[in-house]
Amino acid sequence: MKITFLGTGTSQGIPIIGSNHPVCLSNNSKDKRLRVSILVEWDNYTFVVDCGPDFRQQMLRANVTKIDGIIFTHEHADHTMGLDDIRPFFFKQGDIPLYAHKRVFKSLEKRFDYIFTSEEKYPGVPTVITHEIKNEPFTAGNLDVMPIDGLHHKLQVFGFRFKDFAYLTDMKTVRKEEVEKLENLDVLVVNALREKPHISHFNLEEALKFIKRVNPKRAYLTHISHHLGFHDDVQQKLPDNVFLAYDNLQITI
Ligand SMILES: [Zn+2]
Repeated sequence: MKITFLGTGTSQGIPIIGSNHPVCLSNNSKDKRLRVSILVEWDNYTFVVDCGPDFRQQMLRANVTKIDGIIFTHEHADHTMGLDDIRPFFFKQGDIPLYAHKRVFKSLEKRFDYIFTSEEKYPGVPTVITHEIKNEPFTAGNLDVMPIDGLHHKLQVFGFRFKDFAYLTDMKTVRKEEVEKLENLDVLVVNALREKPHISHFNLEEALKFIKRVNPKRAYLTHISHHLGFHDDVQQKLPDNVFLAYDNLQITI
């Protein structure tokens, strides 16, 4: 299984528009972060987790030529607003499968009503197939994917376990029985926004504590704010098996 980090930044991305913060001005490519998303590839399958406003750029940058589906963690704009750009895949492949909680579909139906309507579609508008995710394993390609249920402040969000890889973003609280689904992982990806506490995200300390509890072989941090600091400085402070993810990073499991 191959994972590509398509984006590792928090909701505004890094650099932030108009910002003079030193991290936003950094020349290190590892300090430039698009909105958070990953590509998960195995056998001949290609799935994307989340579809934020940078989706088009991310598909071009990673040279993705087909997708078997988009799996959503939750409905926030930085995870969904690129949905219109499934059009090139739709023109080539037909209806695009989407996987999400039913609440997320309700939200997408409001914002992208022209995609979800069944009447008098404007030519060129894509069509999707909706697969509702409940908190139980679901099939993606030839694989059973295990949702991990958590809270992003008060909003329900899903993380996902694919074999011995798990991806959790926008988590603040995860119940004990959900943490138990994360035993024996090779790789855990988890959000770590910044050092200061935040109402809806793990800060660095909480992320490191969570990693210790889950005890994967390796862990990667994502959904990073410019307030966390320069990539290279932060990496030096991390435990041996914990890495700061960066855009374009690929890992094989
Ligand atoms: Zn987010």
